[in-house]
Amino acid sequence: MKVLLVSSEVAPFAKSGGLGDVAGALPKALRRRGIDVRLVMPLYAGIDWNDLERLEGVLLVPMWWGTARAGVRLGRLPGSDVPVYFLEYHRYFDRPYLYGTPEEGYDDNLERFTFLSRGALELCKVLNFIPDVIHANDWQTALAPVYVNTVEWGRPLHGAGTVYTIHNLAYPGVTDGGALFVTGLGQQHYHPGEFEHFGALNLMKAALRHANVISTVSPTYAQEIQTPEYGCGLDGELRARRGDLFGILNGIDAEEWDPASDRHLKHRFSWEEPEEKEAAKLALQHEAGLPIDPGIPLFCAIGRLVDQKGFDVVAHAMDRLLSWRMQLVLLANGDREAEHHFAVLASRHPERFRAWLKFDAALSHRLYAGADFVLVPSRFEPCGLTQLYGLRYGALPVVRATGGLVDTVHSYEERTGEGTGFAFRDLTPDALINTIGWALSTYYDRPEHFEAMRQRAMRQDFSWGRAAAAYEDLYREAYRRRRGHSL
Ligand code: ADP
Repeated sequence: MKVLLVSSEVAPFAKSGGLGDVAGALPKALRRRGIDVRLVMPLYAGIDWNDLERLEGVLLVPMWWGTARAGVRLGRLPGSDVPVYFLEYHRYFDRPYLYGTPEEGYDDNLERFTFLSRGALELCKVLNFIPDVIHANDWQTALAPVYVNTVEWGRPLHGAGTVYTIHNLAYPGVTDGGALFVTGLGQQHYHPGEFEHFGALNLMKAALRHANVISTVSPTYAQEIQTPEYGCGLDGELRARRGDLFGILNGIDAEEWDPASDRHLKHRFSWEEPEEKEAAKLALQHEAGLPIDPGIPLFCAIGRLVDQKGFDVVAHAMDRLLSWRMQLVLLANGDREAEHHFAVLASRHPERFRAWLKFDAALSHRLYAGADFVLVPSRFEPCGLTQLYGLRYGALPVVRATGGLVDTVHSYEERTGEGTGFAFRDLTPDALINTIGWALSTYYDRPEHFEAMRQRAMRQDFSWGRAAAAYEDLYREAYRRRRGHSL
């Protein structure tokens, strides 16, 4: 099976979120299943160009203003032979950010990612790599399945099944309707059956209409996005295609995130040899400047300070939480006001609360390793990684029951002791406080349950192997729908 995966980010070359992780990890697992998968992404500033092989010739990419003459460089996903083709076009990608400053996206994003989507297909032709399946992701490459059905009509690429994956529905790629010409598609495509959505151009909508199959990153999120509450205005579209919509949980990079061999940790442990977990906790208390005491339950919270992550609800709960015998460490950045709020709280309660308001990957490993619990109060969560790292490192997740959090955390059953974490439904300070109280009482009053849950949590398998098998099935389904017969 031949698969082209187009993505605007691929870890470790360029990453702003979960999309980059998926695009960097899934292909390696697909490759182990014998699939000929190749990646196409932009050559951004900051990527180490010297390590990449410059392919001969120029790639001609049709654009609204004429033909872009692009370079192509070839690299491999680290630790594998999966080819990654980098489209080199400095006018679009030699910039400090992937999509724009933290405040706003670049004005020409539609043009930049038109180039990527169209360029990826042109590249297949010059390489004579005719994929059985083309896998596009999020708004940035939403045009790929549309081109397969339009400009490639009647040509070899038209035979490829198309898969479109939503990593976060909250970013659909919306712009002014008059901008459709930038994609090279005529205004006849601007209607509610394709690009037009409530008076604007919506890239995701077009992909949802054109792709053979649609997926998202957890089964629960796949259901939720069909409702007005989570649908970001596209729930009707998603309901209309519910028979073609699948949820596949992301995996984690089991080598990067292994408490038994983690290079960021001084104290390493595993479910078979958990003894050093306590040393990791004491080290974290020390690093955080909190009282060092193995008997005080230690919570951590890690994430972007944006609406999605629900830290505003934590802020409202802080006064009560900080009156209890527990400790909380926060590693987060984003909204300036929220940062300020947490900084002030931390200075007022140095014996209970420490806030690091920055992005620090190495530190995040030490938090997962040292904490007893990880707090994930998301408003919505397509899949979520922090709870998966928490499980693997023996920090039991306390989660809002939404999206991927439902699919990965089994809430505690007090009667039987079953479960791997604690879940609540209502996103309110009271619900959060009650659930943290429930976790604390389990820690203090039912330590045998707590320890058994921790063991169970650390033994779970969230590797990419399982996800890759599911994607392979999805690819076969997309091909079958396109061709009318199996691959
Ligand atoms: P999202 O992609 O919506 O941000 P995920 O839970 O899927 O949420 O992934 C977040 C990832 O980013 C996790 O690996 C988490 O550890 C990491 N992360 C988030 N904020 C920080 C931070 N301030 N410092 C270090 N790592 C962070």
